[in-house]
Amino acid sequence: MRAVVLAGPGQISVEQVPDPVPGPGDVVLSVGGCGICGTDLHLVDGDIGRENLPLIPGHEPWGVVVAVGAAVSEVRVGDAAAVDPSLHCGRCEPCRRGQGNMCQRWGAIGATVAGAWADFVKVPSANVYSLSDAFPLQAAPLLEPVACALRGLERMAPTPDQRVIVFGGGTIGILLSILLDLRGVGPVTIVDINPVRRALAAELTGCDVRSPQETVGERAPWVIEATGSAAGFSQALDSVGRAGPLLVSPYRIYTDELSIVGSMAILRSFPAAVDAVSRHAERLAPLITHKFELTDIQAALQTVRSGNSVKTLLVPR
Ligand SMILES: [Zn+2]
Ligand SMILES: [Zn+2]
Repeated sequence: MRAVVLAGPGQISVEQVPDPVPGPGDVVLSVGGCGICGTDLHLVDGDIGRENLPLIPGHEPWGVVVAVGAAVSEVRVGDAAAVDPSLHCGRCEPCRRGQGNMCQRWGAIGATVAGAWADFVKVPSANVYSLSDAFPLQAAPLLEPVACALRGLERMAPTPDQRVIVFGGGTIGILLSILLDLRGVGPVTIVDINPVRRALAAELTGCDVRSPQETVGERAPWVIEATGSAAGFSQALDSVGRAGPLLVSPYRIYTDELSIVGSMAILRSFPAAVDAVSRHAERLAPLITHKFELTDIQAALQTVRSGNSVKTLLVPR
């Protein structure tokens, strides 16, 4: 099969590699589409995960099952399916406490083992979610980011009819804004530095979308940082109205009993993502703004880096 192979930081090529063969508990999917996200850019640039190279990236796939191992009974050849990329060992202490996203042996398909920027991908059957015939497959590539966003909302637990400011109009910021709106939380303001992305975010969410300068001095009961950058975090603190983020914010945390809540990947949120994407596909599918063939990986990465896209997919021919 063809696969995008990351040999070292910045060293990416499309190569012929052996087709994956399922072990007893594995499922092989013919990849229908797989997203590219900010984490992938860090992986490609060598900021994270160098110890796992060479690697086939790709952790947001859906596809059609083409082979199953002898011990697999829940999934059948021909099923359309999506993949939760999380690999939790199930045996360490955090896993036994139900906190698999804190697993001491944490791994992920497309980050620590071969992923889905390829014609085929092999995954454990426990990671596979079969999609019903009625499932809107055009939105299937969004299941993984929706599951991440839902985990974040579970951690944040916002209440309805409360204002939210979302910093960052990328895929996660837009998904969170839509999911908040669907839950009756709002009004939602999205803040992004990039005018192209602001226009996209406004079109896709219907929310109030502004530049950072336009939100200086404003406060909201709920603030989400979805830029993934130190500058974004700093802007988020600034823009809730108390200047001097690094020195002042610890005092603010004390005086105002602020909670800073982190959200790590996916935890038990994939089934809810399947339900949410299935119900709201018409609103979510337009987030997929660009599609590229595997061989166009460089152009695809460039599109993601430009910041002028929302969700960019690799779709094998
Ligand atoms: Zn991702
Ligand atoms: Zn574990």
